[in-house]
Amino acid sequence: MITLQHLQKTYRHKGQDIHALRDINLHVAAGEIYGVVGQSGAGKSTLIRTLNLLEVPQSGELSIANNQFDLSANNDPKQIRQLRRDVGMVFQQYHLWPHMTVLQNLIEAPMKILGTSETEAKQQAMELLQRLRLAEHAARFPLHLSGGQQQRVAIARALAMNPEIMLFDE
Ligand code: ADP
Ligand code: MG
Repeated sequence: MITLQHLQKTYRHKGQDIHALRDINLHVAAGEIYGVVGQSGAGKSTLIRTLNLLEVPQSGELSIANNQFDLSANNDPKQIRQLRRDVGMVFQQYHLWPHMTVLQNLIEAPMKILGTSETEAKQQAMELLQRLRLAEHAARFPLHLSGGQQQRVAIARALAMNPEIMLFDE
C-alpha cells in the first residue's frame, strides 16, 4: 500500500525555484496497479523518485510498504535502507551495471544486501531470466542488448530482491 499526503517538491535551479510537485495526495491499495500519465516535465519522475526517497521533498507524509516518513524531517538512514529493500525501482534509463554480465547484475544485490548464497542467487536469477525470456543472454553485458532487453533485465534485477512494491519510471 502507498499513501502520500500533501507532498511538496521544489527544485532550486540557478537561483530560481521550480515547483515540480504541488500538494500531491495519492492512495494505492495493496495489489493495485496504478499509472500516472502526464506531459513531459509534469513531474512523473520526481513523484516516483520521491516514493523511495531518491528525491527528498520539502514536506509531506509518505507511507509505503509499512514504512512511514515525515518528509519535512531528516529520516533515519537505517529506515531508508529498509525502504529500498521493500520497494524495487526500474529507472527510465535502466542504470544497469555495464561492467557486469546480466546474471551478475541480478545476483549482486541479493548476495550483498540480503545475504543470499551465490548458488541460490544464481538459481533464482536464472528462473527470473527464463520468465522474462532473457535466459540466453545471461552471460552477455547489458550494452550488447537492445533497449527493450535491457529494460527487462532491469525489471528482473528489481524482482530479484523480491520487493513488496515495484516502481516503474516509463
Ligand atoms: P516528467 O518525468 O513528468 O517528465 P520530471 O519529474 O522529470 O518530469 O520534472 C518535473 C519538473 O522538475 C520539470 O520542470 C523539470 O525540468 C524539473 N526538474 C527535474 N529534475 C530537476 C533537477 N534535478 N533540478 C532542477 N529541476 C528539475
Ligand atoms: Mg520522467
